[in-house]
Amino acid sequence: MHRLTMSENRQSAPLRECENSRMELPDREICYRALESRDPRFDGLLFVGVTSTGIYCRPICPARTAKFENCRFFGSAAAAQESGFRPCLRCRPETAPDMASWRGTSNTVSRALALINDGALDGNGASVEVLAERLGVGERQLRRLFLQHLGASPIAVAQTRRVLFAKQLIHETRMPLTEIAMAAGFGSVRRFNETFRDLFHRPPGALRRKNLVPDPALNAGVTLRVRYRPPYDWESTLAHLEARAIPGVEVVENGRYHRTVEVSGVTGSVEVVHLPRRQSLSITIRFPNVQALPAIVARVRRLFDTGADIGTIDAHLSRDPRLAPLVARRPGLRAPGGWDGFELAVRAILGQQVSVAAARRLGGQLVALYGRPVTQEFAGHPQLSHVFPSAERITAAERIEVGMPDARRLSLKAMAEASAADPNLFRPFGTIEEAILRLRAIRGVGEWTAQYIALRALRETDAFPASDIGLLRGAEMVDGVRSTSSGLLDRAEFWRPWRAYAAQHLWAVAASGIGNERSASAYA
Ligand SMILES: [Zn+2]
Repeated sequence: MHRLTMSENRQSAPLRECENSRMELPDREICYRALESRDPRFDGLLFVGVTSTGIYCRPICPARTAKFENCRFFGSAAAAQESGFRPCLRCRPETAPDMASWRGTSNTVSRALALINDGALDGNGASVEVLAERLGVGERQLRRLFLQHLGASPIAVAQTRRVLFAKQLIHETRMPLTEIAMAAGFGSVRRFNETFRDLFHRPPGALRRKNLVPDPALNAGVTLRVRYRPPYDWESTLAHLEARAIPGVEVVENGRYHRTVEVSGVTGSVEVVHLPRRQSLSITIRFPNVQALPAIVARVRRLFDTGADIGTIDAHLSRDPRLAPLVARRPGLRAPGGWDGFELAVRAILGQQVSVAAARRLGGQLVALYGRPVTQEFAGHPQLSHVFPSAERITAAERIEVGMPDARRLSLKAMAEASAADPNLFRPFGTIEEAILRLRAIRGVGEWTAQYIALRALRETDAFPASDIGLLRGAEMVDGVRSTSSGLLDRAEFWRPWRAYAAQHLWAVAASGIGNERSASAYA
C-alpha cells in the first residue's frame, strides 16, 4: 500500500518554508501532486490558495486543478485566509477534518486552540495577552509558536474559526442569521455582516440555500456534520460508549449516542449518529444558549476522536507483526476521549478494582444523588434525566453515599476538590510525565488511574495504563503467553508515540474474546 503521509514527508522530502510564513510544509511538488490526485489523506492538513481567483480550497476540491504557478500552499485555513484568500463555496474548507491538534508537537499551541475553540478570543476584553497569560507563556512567544505551527496569528485563527463555523451553520442548519452571529462568536450582527461582505462580497444570507426556511425553535435542535479522515471504526466506538453509558446521562439506542450536556450552568443534550458515506458524524445539539455551540462541538470531536491522523497511526502500529492483524481487523479504531475532564476522572475512580458494568452502576447512583435535572424541553430523549454532577456539587456533599469502600469515596472527594481548585487540572500542560505526577498527587490516584485519565481526558496519545487487567488479558491473547505489566511496558516502547491506540486495540481484543489465530508456539 502506498503510504504517503505528511509526517513521513517531513522526514523524507526536502523541507521548504511556506511562502508566506515560517511554517513547514512538504515540498511544493508534493503538495501539488496531492492536489492533482485529490488525495484525501491531505484533507485538513493542506490548503491551496489560487492566486488567479483569490479562493482557497481543500486538496479534494472537485473543481479543475489550478496551474502549478498559481498555487500557494498553506497548513491551515487561517493561514490561507490571513493571506487574503476566501473560502471556496464548492469544497467548503469549513468542513475539512479538524487536524489542528496534530500540528507539530507544541502543547502550548494545542491548549491555545482548545481555549480559542471555547471562545477565549471572542467578545470584549478578550485578547492575545490574556490568552498567553492563561497559558503561562509570553504574548510574543505565543505569536511565534502560532506562526511556526499554524502559519497564522492567534487572532487570525480565531477569526477564521468564527467565519468558518458561521458558514457551516448557514449551509447546514435552519438557525436564524442573528443567532448564527452569536453562536459563532461575532458579538454583533453588524460585525458578522461586515466580515461576510469583506470576505465574500455579499451578505451572509446570500450564501443560504434558497429553499431553506429559518426555524427559530432551538429545542428542535441544530444539526451539524463533523468530518473525520477515514477509516473510522464506528461500531467499536459505539460499543465502548454503550458499555459505559451512565443511566440518566447517556443512552445508546438504534446506532445513536445521546447524552446530556451542561455548559456554564445551562443544560441540554446532544445526539450523534454516523454517516459513513459522508465520512462524517452528524450531531444534533439541543441547547438553549447558542453561544455554547462551538464548545459543545469541540467536546463531541474529542469524545469521538474525529481529529486523529488515523492512517499514520494504523501504519505505525502495523509495523509490529503481532499488532498488524488487530489493526487489519479493526481499521480506524479510535481512542475515545472524555466528555469532560472531571467526569472522566470520576469514572476512573469508580472503575478502580471493579468491572465496567459495576462502575456504570456506581455512576448511575452518583448521578441520581448529585446530578442536576436536565431541562426536559432540551433533553431530546425520554431516558435522559440528569447532567453529570459537577466538582462543586461533589465538594459540597457531606458524605458520598455511593456503594464503594471509604478509601474510594475519599478519593472521589479529593478529586472534586483538586478539580474545583485548579481549572487546568485536565488540560494538557507540560509533558505527559508532569501530568501524571500532578494527578498522582491527588489522594487515591495511582499510576493506573493517572494514566487512564491522561489517555481519555488529557488526550495524551502516548498514555498507557500498563497494569490494566484488560490490557494484560488482551496482550496474553495476542502473544499467547502471560504478560506482566513491566513486560508489557517494554513491548509498548515500540508503539510510541501512539501507545493509547495500541491499548485500544488490546482492550478490543480482550472484550471480543478473539485473539490472534496463530498459536503461542509460532512465536517461541
Ligand atoms: Zn474548492
